Parts: sequence; structure tokens; C-alpha cells
Amino acid sequence: MNTIIKTLVPLLKGLAKTFSYIFKKPVTYQYPEKKREVSERWRGLHRLKTENGKLKCVACGLCEAVCPADVIKVERRETPDGRSFPVKFDVTVTRCIFCGYCQEACPKDAIELTRNYEFCDYTREDFDLSRDMLAKIGE
Ligand code: SF4
Ligand code: SF4
Repeated sequence: MNTIIKTLVPLLKGLAKTFSYIFKKPVTYQYPEKKREVSERWRGLHRLKTENGKLKCVACGLCEAVCPADVIKVERRETPDGRSFPVKFDVTVTRCIFCGYCQEACPKDAIELTRNYEFCDYTREDFDLSRDMLAKIGE
């Protein structure tokens, strides 16, 4: 008898919990018509910032050095007037762990992780973002 009670009580409790959801308002979002708000601290797709039409990045390589997943590749060049800029700035998004270290390490506030979480695509190569692609994100 004791064993039956010990089995039935948790079972009934579980069923009561399940049935209680019948009377609750559904929480399903009709995505993409309705989108969820994400936190201010959300770390989504990367973006290279521009100022007066030019990249803020000076290709110092700090983000590349700090990246724990080793997904940033930067190549530096100089203009004739001595200004550094990235001739190449690639991010392999499929291997990024969205830690945000690149954004924190940047001395020029040139890279940020946007709140964009909608970046599904069909092939892995579509997630290899180049400098110009990164600059266009968030425009
Ligand atoms: S968010 Fe982290 S893993 Fe992703 S590119 Fe930046 S430093 Fe690397
Ligand atoms: S994004 Fe910032 S940290 Fe990375 S290379 Fe450019 S200036 Fe340096």
C-alpha cells in the first residue's frame, strides 16, 4: 500500500502540473512576424564600424591575438600618409563562440558584436565574413 502511494503521489503531481498549462496563455511567438526582444548584452553578429566613410579599424591585430577560437584574420597595410588599415579582415563565424573578447580588446572601438541573431544561411562558406561584408552589417 505504501509503495502504491509513493508511486501515485509524484505521478499525480506531475499530471496536475501538465494539466495546469492547458489554462495558461501560450508563449509561442509567430516568428518571423513577431520577434523576441533580446537583452542589451546580447552578443550577435560582428560588425566593423566606420567613421566618415572609413573603417575605424587600424589593423593592430589585438582582436586577432585575443580571440580564443582563432577565427579572426587581419592583414595590415599603410596608406602613403602613414595611416594603418586592414587590407584583409576575415571572421569565420561558424567557429566563433561569441565571447566578446574582440570587442573588449579593441583600442579603437572598431568592432562590435551586434544584437543581430538572424544570420542563418545555406553553406558554411556563407559564414566566412570578409572586411567589406563586416562593414556593411548594421548599415
Ligand atoms: S566573439 Fe570571441 S570567439 Fe568570436 S571572434 Fe570575437 S573574440 Fe573570437
Ligand atoms: S578591430 Fe580593433 S583590435 Fe581588431 S585589428 Fe581593428 S583596431 Fe585592432
